[in-house]
Amino acid sequence: MKRGVLVTGGAGYIGSHTAVELTEAGYEVIIVDNFSNSDRNSLEGIRKITGVEPKFVEADCCDKEAMRRVFEEYEFDSAIHFAAYKAVGESVAKPAKYYRNNLLSFINLLELMLEYGRKNILFSSSATVYGDAEVLPVTELTPRKPATSPYGNTKQMAEDILRDMVAANTGKLCGIALRYFNPIGAHPSALIGELPRGVPNNLVPYITQTAAGIRECLSIFGDDYNTPDGSCLRDYIDVVDLARAHVVAIGRLIEERNKQNYEVFNIGTGRPVSVFELVHGFESANNLKLNYNVAPRRAGDVTAVWADTTLANEELGWRAERELIDTLRSAWEWECNVRKQ
Ligand code: UDP
Repeated sequence: MKRGVLVTGGAGYIGSHTAVELTEAGYEVIIVDNFSNSDRNSLEGIRKITGVEPKFVEADCCDKEAMRRVFEEYEFDSAIHFAAYKAVGESVAKPAKYYRNNLLSFINLLELMLEYGRKNILFSSSATVYGDAEVLPVTELTPRKPATSPYGNTKQMAEDILRDMVAANTGKLCGIALRYFNPIGAHPSALIGELPRGVPNNLVPYITQTAAGIRECLSIFGDDYNTPDGSCLRDYIDVVDLARAHVVAIGRLIEERNKQNYEVFNIGTGRPVSVFELVHGFESANNLKLNYNVAPRRAGDVTAVWADTTLANEELGWRAERELIDTLRSAWEWECNVRKQ
């Protein structure tokens, strides 16, 4: 029988790509999503890509009784927790909304896992925990910085909750936190991808919407940073590569190859790319010109952050493979395709 993996937030951007990779690796995926920031069409996309109808329950992970029914009904020994709000600016305006949703859903899941004897959990963390690091690239031992937004704080707090729950339940719970750098791009089929609601906050959706004429002009937030071209440096990781990191991490837990009960891995490419490089890369990858201008710095942005991926490379046997140019092509193909759906 196929091994089941519960994927909360599995209709979302990273969740849907992970559902595809898990299915293709032979797992049975059970998706829970309440479509708070995702679209039903992604389930159809997963089905079309894999040829497998994903098992799906529409539920809010904060609703413990609804989640209990998922545990009663489905066989799985592992879970990947994506379900969370992720808009930094909104989290500053509505902190309680973020703390409640992002933490309660996770605590519910962990408690149910213990109650039902399901052992392995992966948590979607973020490079945001490193803040403005003094030494680059960041390793997993780079100290975390105090969060600059409630969103960032929920990632740090959830990491700590996982660490403490695992420590208190030796042999019953094993966890891995994956710290994502900047996920971009879409599945090569262009059947699933990122679907921002309203005006995108992130760079690549803003770029693709500008290229599509939905936004008039991309603002590049600052060209006076202390970097080679003055714009910020980030580590842009292809979403399919990122999804595959989940498959190997969950395999590590299932096959008990983990070295500690709670582990943390950076998931990035290890390569810094500036905003200008990304914009020009997008233009040449897709043979188009983008309307952009330079705007003031955005509050809260760090100058530069990129990953030291040695630990993930050596311990997980994983590395990012897709070329940036292909990733930027996939982002544009998805943007063109999604309007037709
Ligand atoms: N950025 C930009 N214009 C935009 C959105 C983002 O210049 O419309 C820059 C932003 O200042 C940062 C980089 O692009 O340097 C990545 O931002 P994003 O919000 O995608 O990810 P973050 O690193 O902030 O999580």
